[in-house]
Amino acid sequence: MNSISLLVAETIWNQMESTHSVSDDQLSILHTLFGKNLERATRIVDQKGVKKISAETTGRSIFQIVGESRRKEEYLCFPEHYCGCYSFFYDVVNRGEQIYCKHQLAARLAVSLGTCDDVKVSDEQLAQLLAKL
Ligand SMILES: [Zn+2]
Repeated sequence: MNSISLLVAETIWNQMESTHSVSDDQLSILHTLFGKNLERATRIVDQKGVKKISAETTGRSIFQIVGESRRKEEYLCFPEHYCGCYSFFYDVVNRGEQIYCKHQLAARLAVSLGTCDDVKVSDEQLAQLLAKL
């Protein structure tokens, strides 16, 4: 994926963020960019599977995303940079075929739509979560 695609995606996320909704046109562009991973991400968002965990004083945050198939699985993820899932290492980092995994897309979608579950924790609790990465 090239930087123009990324720019297009970024523009759409920002538009969605200002309206907290997504149009059919925006969805179809995102689908062109991200394919099957976008479908999976919308399913996760529909299941309310995106949690944003923020530390009370520092405001630092990480996302916890429920796996699409097995609901017990949860992945810690930074929408722009990292996800703890297998697909992130295999498809994104190793083969470079995808720019984001479905969990990263789900986090981005939920933020733009304003549908993530906001959870506040202490700085210590966040540090413990980060230590699991
Ligand atoms: Zn992932």
